[in-house]
Amino acid sequence: MMNIAFIAHDRKKDDIVNFVIAYEHVFKDKKLYSTGTTGLRIMENTSLQIQRFLSGPLGGDQQIGSLIAQNEMDLVIFLRDPLLAQPHEPDITALLRLCDVHGIPVATNMATAEILVRALDRGDFGWRELLEQHKPGLS
Ligand code: PGA
Repeated sequence: MMNIAFIAHDRKKDDIVNFVIAYEHVFKDKKLYSTGTTGLRIMENTSLQIQRFLSGPLGGDQQIGSLIAQNEMDLVIFLRDPLLAQPHEPDITALLRLCDVHGIPVATNMATAEILVRALDRGDFGWRELLEQHKPGLS
């Protein structure tokens, strides 16, 4: 089962809701996670079930980061606001760093998100499931 995380800063929340509505058919059989408000907005507007963590500024980014560190996230869609300083900037940097450490596909804008989700729909993420089957114990 593919694990996907959604995070969107406040001025990107309408975008992520519209994006998830457009690709609901792709997401409906995946395990979905999000930060608090992002997940609430998505669930209010779709029939998807999402495991919500804390709001980003209260630690939600770090909670998602911990799943990435355990190689339990296959795709991260993180629509961040490039024009507004965030109080939890260090957490954002840490989350993106962990994606790079573990080689996790991550989109930080809509254009990349579209390409990754189309690739997911086409089956291009099979390598993630292969990795899952051969996952070594945590060390
Ligand atoms: P939120 O957190 O989904 O709870 O708004 C995301 C963020 O703003 O970092």
